[in-house]
Amino acid sequence: METLFTKIRQGVIPSTKLYEDDICFVILDINPVKKGHALVIANEPYPSMAACPDDVLAHMMAVAKKIDARQRAVLGNDGSNIIINNDPASGQEVPHIHIHVIPRYTGDGRKHFQDHDSYADGEMAGIGARLKLS
Ligand code: AMP
Repeated sequence: METLFTKIRQGVIPSTKLYEDDICFVILDINPVKKGHALVIANEPYPSMAACPDDVLAHMMAVAKKIDARQRAVLGNDGSNIIINNDPASGQEVPHIHIHVIPRYTGDGRKHFQDHDSYADGEMAGIGARLKLS
């Protein structure tokens, strides 16, 4: 399946590429939350995490870790958001798995999760029990 990111990988759409190997590639996001915001993108267009093999995901996270270190060394950021938007309900716009690596600075004012739910009495324990991995 062709996606925006397969076209970028093929060079049909231009990008600023930071890295590539047999499994993934890394570009700068065109609309950065903060400058240097990078995307670690699987070479294969797996639409979401569920479709992505574990070894591919693990490799992409290892590459994200290296990009994070490079950003901190070059840009001097104090922290980062490492994010996968997973399926459209989460806000995922491009159905081709990618990890956002977003440089963050102390007091930079960017907010990631703006709204939060709160649990009724006992609800947290109940949901926790249902979510436990066996
Ligand atoms: P998501 O919402 O997680 O699917 O993220 C998709 C990201 O792709 C967004 O942060 C966009 O800014 C970014 N994006 C869209 N078009 C381009 C492009 N041509 N080059 C680089 N990044 C892009």
